[in-house]
Amino acid sequence: MSAQPDHRHRQFVRRVVLPSGKTIEVVYFEQGDHGLPSPAPSETPTELHVCGTCSSELVYPIDWEEAGASHWQVTLRCPNCEWVGTGVFEQEVVEAFDEELDRGTETLVRDLKALIRANMEEQVERFAEALENDLILPEDF
Ligand SMILES: [Zn+2]
Repeated sequence: MSAQPDHRHRQFVRRVVLPSGKTIEVVYFEQGDHGLPSPAPSETPTELHVCGTCSSELVYPIDWEEAGASHWQVTLRCPNCEWVGTGVFEQEVVEAFDEELDRGTETLVRDLKALIRANMEEQVERFAEALENDLILPEDF
């Protein structure tokens, strides 16, 4: 029995030149059959939060694990176009991504807190209104 290649996961390598002049090889595993993303010009540095398919800046990691001493294997997902890909990235690329994510998370947490506060205020107002109008009866508790 000969080993069949796994057609569900197409693999391709992209050479990325970092601003420092270092060249890294990024291995992608394309899932699904919606075609390979068009190869980006290799002179642009890898920014993991930017989607290679639709240029959305909302790409986030769904899984990651160490791949050797200075590399990480990261599975990324773009919420905009549903692109999912796994790549092996250098530590410094992942660190830059992490910083970008931290910035995004801060914004998200701030928005979420504001949202919770707004919702709570609305609920408190409704509760107070209901109390005033005797709409809350002992059996509600
Ligand atoms: Zn995308």
